[in-house]
Amino acid sequence: MPGIYVHLPFCPYICPYCDFAKWAHKRSAAERYLQALYAEIALRPAQRDTYESVFLGGGTPNTYHASDVAELIAKLGEKFPGPPDRETTIEVNPELVRAEDFASYRAAGINRISIGVQSFVPEEIRTLGRRHKVEDVERVVRSAREAGIRSVSIDLIFAVPGQTPQSWRRSLETAVALGIDHVSTYGLTIEAGTPYEGWQAREPSAFFDDAREAELYEIAIDALESAGFEHYEISNFARPGHACAHNANYWANGEYVGLGVGAASYCEGVRSVHTRDLEEYIAAAMEQRTIPGESEHLEGARQAGEAVMLALRTAQGVRLASFKERYGLDFLNFYASVVERYRSLGLLETDATHVRLTRRGRFLANDVCAAFVTFA
Ligand code: SF4
Repeated sequence: MPGIYVHLPFCPYICPYCDFAKWAHKRSAAERYLQALYAEIALRPAQRDTYESVFLGGGTPNTYHASDVAELIAKLGEKFPGPPDRETTIEVNPELVRAEDFASYRAAGINRISIGVQSFVPEEIRTLGRRHKVEDVERVVRSAREAGIRSVSIDLIFAVPGQTPQSWRRSLETAVALGIDHVSTYGLTIEAGTPYEGWQAREPSAFFDDAREAELYEIAIDALESAGFEHYEISNFARPGHACAHNANYWANGEYVGLGVGAASYCEGVRSVHTRDLEEYIAAAMEQRTIPGESEHLEGARQAGEAVMLALRTAQGVRLASFKERYGLDFLNFYASVVERYRSLGLLETDATHVRLTRRGRFLANDVCAAFVTFA
């Protein structure tokens, strides 16, 4: 079920922990970038008859006016057709949204929004360098519902300096009380070159160790599962019928087209990523040249290992029969030593049809997945 990802990299301000391809919003750059995106859409061939999902991510896509977003979606629809009302998501910053935007979004085909909330606790919002208020999020959720947006998701971050189990519970409970359909929770990671890296070097005790971070992750699982959310992927929770189809395609090792600066694609076994240099991207697209970047052809055990890494992120895990059909390998024989090691550590479990992470294994997923990716 191939999908389309479009990267819209401008933000109203830059958060001190962020390592995405992003730039502070400037109108002239944003306008030139949109023209470059249109040029890339014209340049890229549609390799499949149908694309099942569209995801406008960033950055902060709603730094663009709703009419620009509508035009972009229309161009995507012409070039990369899909079923009627295919899942179409836009990430939004809650301070920037105007109530009337949602009617335009819905008319353009958007049926899912993902709100960058991160926390509902004012001190944590400030620590994260964000500027919204809880009321902004309430207003966005209400406007989205009134406009008929089918699924509303929010992102939350845990292991924020100063956060406590109580304050984390408060954010989770506020999310549940808002009646949203989907929550993505991410542990704060310290990325090289960000202001947070310098802060951690100066004051390491302000940051969480693995054990305290695991405690917050457990709190999220308990709070959201008891509120009726399914923990369908390591970082993602959904009410029935609201799992994100676009991301489910990534975890199924499905194909996707990535458009824009720094965007990744996966098609016919080739994983590629565009340059993260904004001007280089714009120049190449406008001159109708191949966008500079890197690519690699995944095959054999490497391709299978990547697929295992992605599938293990999901609650379902690896389906043994599908794995054999797609990669020609008997999973339990091929990975026998890795499976045994992590099963004995209580991080993996197997039954007649699947291999999956245990609840404890979900917190240590990176270690377990790395063992499959490097196995050959
Ligand atoms: S809004 Fe998102 S993409 Fe933009 S700087 Fe903040 S974290 Fe990064």
